[in-house]
Amino acid sequence: MKVFVAGATGALGRELVPQLVARGHEVVGMTRTASKQDGLRALGARPVVADALDPDAVAQAVASAEPDPVTGGSTAAAGSGGGRRCQSRQRLCAIWKSQVEKRPVGSQRVAFCQTCFNVAEGDLCGICADDRRDATVVCVVEEPRDVVAVEKTGEFHGRYHVLQGAISPIEGVGPEQLRVRELLDRIGREGISEVILCTNPNLEGEATALYLARLLKPLGLRVTRIASGLPVGGDLEYADELTLGRALEGRRDVEA
Ligand SMILES: [Zn+2]
Repeated sequence: MKVFVAGATGALGRELVPQLVARGHEVVGMTRTASKQDGLRALGARPVVADALDPDAVAQAVASAEPDPVTGGSTAAAGSGGGRRCQSRQRLCAIWKSQVEKRPVGSQRVAFCQTCFNVAEGDLCGICADDRRDATVVCVVEEPRDVVAVEKTGEFHGRYHVLQGAISPIEGVGPEQLRVRELLDRIGREGISEVILCTNPNLEGEATALYLARLLKPLGLRVTRIASGLPVGGDLEYADELTLGRALEGRRDVEA
């Protein structure tokens, strides 16, 4: 299998790459620092230089890592089968380094789930701790209050990821200030197959959804956006359950 490791020169990447190589996977390692390419080659990975938080860079790196269409799976690791059959089995997977330092967020008396950043009493929130929830579908929202709004619809049985904000150039909020890296990290770790972009239907929410779609689509995930029909410029929090439930049900694949 071709495995795409972003932030491959970080602590987690350095640990992970040799393990993946040892298991016969073809590893493409992404690093922001060109001088670290040789280090990646030494670990057995094919290096590409790109920033893991830049959607264009990720898309380009993934595209450049595709097998030659003429030779098919000739670049696949030995022992994984050759030619077309191998190519069709190839699955792209992203594993981001986990962020070691956690940013201080909000009031110190409020604790956040270490997985999804919803409010939590312990390490995990009630939803992440509930193994009856579908772990393959993740609904991305801006704030913990949006989790409450979606839960009220009773239409969603997967898990959440709370960004703790939205991209706002005017207020100087970029992806680095949000829990985007943590989302990427979960995608590599948890076998997530669909991400529903459930950010607010206003300017910031749409910008955030577009950014995430462009970042996630190249990784081979299904990326969907809740249907329009919610009042534009509004807040999920104030949408009634029926409208929000329908918006979820009518979600569409995002073109990015
Ligand atoms: Zn959680």
